[in-house]
Amino acid sequence: MFRSVLQLRSGPGLLIRGLGTHRGGSTLDWDEKVSEIKKKIRSILPGEACTPLYDTSHLPPEHSDVVIVGGGVLGLSVAFWLKKLQKKGDGIRVLVVERDHTYSKASTVLSVGGIRQQFSLPENVQLSLFSVDFLRNINEYLAVVDSPPVDLQFNPSGYLLLASEKGASTLENRVKMQRQEGAKVCLMSPEQLQNKFPWMNTKGVALASYGMEGEGWFDPWSLLQGLRRKVQSMGVLFCQGEVTRFITSSNRMVTSSGEEVVLKRIYEVHVKMNNSLEYQPVECAIVINAAGAWSGQIAELAGIGKGPPGTLQGTKLPVEPRKRYVYVWHCPQGPGLEMPFVADTNGVYFRREGLGNNYLGGCSPTEVS
Ligand SMILES: Cc1cc2nc3c(=O)[nH]c(=O)nc-3n(C[C@H](O)[C@H](O)[C@H](O)COP(=O)(O)OP(=O)(O)OC[C@H]3O[C@@H](n4cnc5c(N)ncnc54)[C@H](O)[C@@H]3O)c2cc1C
Repeated sequence: MFRSVLQLRSGPGLLIRGLGTHRGGSTLDWDEKVSEIKKKIRSILPGEACTPLYDTSHLPPEHSDVVIVGGGVLGLSVAFWLKKLQKKGDGIRVLVVERDHTYSKASTVLSVGGIRQQFSLPENVQLSLFSVDFLRNINEYLAVVDSPPVDLQFNPSGYLLLASEKGASTLENRVKMQRQEGAKVCLMSPEQLQNKFPWMNTKGVALASYGMEGEGWFDPWSLLQGLRRKVQSMGVLFCQGEVTRFITSSNRMVTSSGEEVVLKRIYEVHVKMNNSLEYQPVECAIVINAAGAWSGQIAELAGIGKGPPGTLQGTKLPVEPRKRYVYVWHCPQGPGLEMPFVADTNGVYFRREGLGNNYLGGCSPTEVS
């Protein structure tokens, strides 16, 4: 298939996709051959120094088994596990499409990098128990030969969730469930809190839960870069561009109850390249939506939520960007190393940032429907 060329390199550079993987012969021989071919092409084509063939290494491949939309921590994690769990010799082709390689708006790098075991759903506790094991053994998973080890700058520290009189029994029940799932969490009375954290004003606090293991915070940028480096070493391809369209095929099927349903399958993804109005088509078998806060928009591109209201196809993916904020402040007399990751009864959360009495925290705005 003809691939439109989007970006011209400076100078009359005759480069062909895959040039970098040329094997055999010295680079000098190869450069000479390329230069000869360039001359020949120039001599037979009319006009001044033209560039008939360009570097296309920044373009996505024409085919990929899996296309992952979004190269944040979730997209990269999916890529990692797909490659890690593939059967020997399978060589599954995975492409990650990310529109912003600075990640300026990605949740991954805007987050406060906390990991906790204290959740209200057993599934989330299990996910987090697995994740903390992954982080603890990060270099068993993400080491790359001849590269320095990944340093997540992990700070082990418990989360301290505070509850008022009204929320105390819910907190107690949650801790019961978390312990059943295997998390190490304890309950603390206001007196115990005062003894352990003398700097804390416990007015209005009826009960607290404190994580004794598997909690803390780390640098999300280091995790992202570690995952990126690893998946690249495993053969995952990256492309800087924006997924703007899916091309689907439809199959009619009749269910066992005699109902006719139309099944749609995405077979092509259109990637709009940065600084260009053109797109590149990528044929694929599977698309993974890992677009973070923009996942709802990607689902809509695939027709999800566009069917008749009240039907499954008419149900939107309920994910959209919402405002969140995080502040950093300095408090010279503030608590030091012994400070946990505190979540107050009103939703305000904060933790230590480094060792210079800086603190980082925020509060999610009240949801307005
Ligand atoms: C303020 C804040 C604090 C947080 N604190 C914590 C915390 O302490 N602990 C915790 O576990 N979690 C925390 N989170 C949540 C956590 O950051 C997210 O759950 C996680 O980072 C989501 O990762 P992701 O890969 O799904 O999304 P993202 O990191 O947002 O990545 C999605 C990527 O998709 C790309 N993309 C979108 N649309 C397209 C398209 N059409 N084509 C190509 N690319 C596209 C975007 O550019 C983006 O880079 C916090 C979040 C916020 C906002």
